[in-house]
This record gives sequence, structure tokens and C-alpha cells, in this order.
Amino acid sequence: MVKRGRSVLVVDDDRFIQKIITTILKESGLFSNFLTASNGYEGLKILKERGNEIDLVFCDLNMPDFDGLKFLEAKEKLKELKDIPVIILTAAEEKELKLKALELGANDFITKPADPAEIIARARVQLKIKQLQDELKKQNRILKELSNTDPLTKIYNRRHFMDLLDREFARSMRYGRPLSLAIVDIDHFKMVNDTYGHQIGDRVLIEFVKRIKEGLRKHDVLGRYGGEEFTILLPETKLSDAVKVIERHRKNMDEKPVLLEPWIHVTFSAGVTGIPDVEAESVDDMIKQADLALYNAKNSGRNRVISYKEVTENPLKNNS
Ligand code: GH3
Ligand code: MG
Ligand code: MG
Repeated sequence: MVKRGRSVLVVDDDRFIQKIITTILKESGLFSNFLTASNGYEGLKILKERGNEIDLVFCDLNMPDFDGLKFLEAKEKLKELKDIPVIILTAAEEKELKLKALELGANDFITKPADPAEIIARARVQLKIKQLQDELKKQNRILKELSNTDPLTKIYNRRHFMDLLDREFARSMRYGRPLSLAIVDIDHFKMVNDTYGHQIGDRVLIEFVKRIKEGLRKHDVLGRYGGEEFTILLPETKLSDAVKVIERHRKNMDEKPVLLEPWIHVTFSAGVTGIPDVEAESVDDMIKQADLALYNAKNSGRNRVISYKEVTENPLKNNS
């Protein structure tokens, strides 16, 4: 990633002060881009347009129409702008206003006429804090990603998949939209481990997931439910269409070996259910239905896809 130069925005109705602050900051070498605005409204507009590029704002308090306090208030309300630090520029006598500004989210203030060394020092502190904050946010994003991901196959783990399923289920119920769920289980996977060892077994799981993922649509969600068992969530998909999609995967898996070196061929069995074709009151119901259909697929010979609807329509297959 190319590292962009830092940008600062100076908001002041006094052009002379804009000029002084910008000149001081230019000499500091802390920034490479300088933006100016003559009132809070203009400043806010620039932040909205280019907020993700701006690292620090200097803002006057007393400005006609849209003053510094209004600016702070409006900025604090916008989640994406909240973390951009603001240093308020005030006159010495504005003590009450200073306190109000800090309450409204200002990070620091400088009393005019300001000393160049102080302006630079305070800017440096805010930049440091912002940098630490940005790093923390990034780390949190990474942690969240990790806590949602299965370490071997890099797809969603069971917990996160269930969260997404909960959300989709609620959405589908509310808007009366179809939603299908498949549970896919590799056939005789234990034999792969027994014959080739656990490490090769792991590689089979990774390649298996890759193959399934390639054939899924953008909104379909794949999760690792357990060992060699996977779940697929198909939003906006009727049961009969979901069965077709999973059947295509089954055929594709059966036609091509999952690993070439060593040559390993695996198949899978799957159980599929879907609302509103099959009634379900909760995601637990859907999981149970898909599981029962999977059980039937295993019991009737493996390497096949069975819909819960078939199970209920043909009581012979109902082994529960
Ligand atoms: P079935 O057709 O009935 O599903 O038979 P199966 O052998 O696939 O099912 P079973 O549940 O008997 O065995 C699953 C095997 O999957 C046993 C377990 O050691 C293996 N397994 C589970 N997780 C992993 C993993 O992360 N890596 C490897 N290599 N093997 C795993
Ligand atoms: Mg299995
Ligand atoms: Mg299993």
C-alpha cells in the first residue's frame, strides 16, 4: 500500500490566521496536504467529502453563521468523522466556550495568538494518538476476523455461521423471503485419514472447501460446522433451487478428484431444507431438518443430495 501524506484542515473565518497556521504547519513537515475553510459549514462539507484523508483539524470557535461549537456538534454525530481529532483555536477570554468545546468532543485547544512551537507540539500529540487509535482499530478488525474464521479452511466457523443464519432467518421471516440451508458431509472421510494420514486429510478439507467456494454465488455463505461437515446458507433461494445448486456441487465433486498428488477422490452427502417450502419456527428447526435429510442421504447410499421435503413425503426415509 502506498503511504499517503498526512492532511490537515484549518477552519477559520480570518484568512490571515488560516495563512499563519498553514505556514507554521508547512514548516513543521508533519503534513503534505493543507485544506482551509472559512466557517464550520464549509469545514464540515470538506470533512464529509474527504474525511478519510484528513488527519487533524484546527478550528476557530468564533465564526459567523456556523461556528466552531456547531461544527463540533455536527461532526460528533457522524460516526465516520468522530475519530478525526480537532484542536480548537480560541481567544484567551473564551473560557466558558473552551469548556463547552471540550465537552462537545474537541481534543485540545490553543489560545490565540499561538506560539508556533506550541501549535506544532500539540499537532504532533494528536497525530500520535490518532495513529495509535488507527492501529488499534486495525488490530480489532483482524481479531474479529480471526474469531469468526476456521483456522484450517479460512471459512466462517460454526459460531459465526450460526450468527449469520440467525440474522438471515429473521430477515426472511420478516419479509416473507425464501431461505435455504444445506448441511454437507464428506463421505468416508475417516478412510482418507486412515489411509493417507491426518496431514493429507487436512489438505483434502482445504481443497474441498476451495472447490465448493468456487461454485457458490456471491450471497451464499459457507461455514465449517464441524470436522468434515459444512453448512451452506442460500439466501433468496427456494428449496427446489437450492437442491439443484447442491446437486451440481455433488456432481462436480464426484467427477474430479479433490487432490491429484496423491490422487484422492471424495464424494459428499447433503441434506437440504428451506423456508417457506418447509415450515420452520427457528434456525434450530432448519438445522434439525437439514440434519435429518443428511442422515437419510447417508443411509440411502451416500454421494447424494436429499431434501427434507422428500423425507417427510416418504415416511420410509424418516429415521428419526
Ligand atoms: P460418513 O460417510 O458416515 O460421514 O463417514 P466419515 O468417515 O466421513 O465420518 P466419521 O464421522 O466417522 O469421521 C469423520 C472423520 O473426520 C473423523 C475425524 O478424525 C476426521 N476429521 C475431523 N476434523 C478433521 C480435521 O480437521 N482434519 C482431518 N484430517 N480430519 C478430520
Ligand atoms: Mg463424513
Ligand atoms: Mg461427520
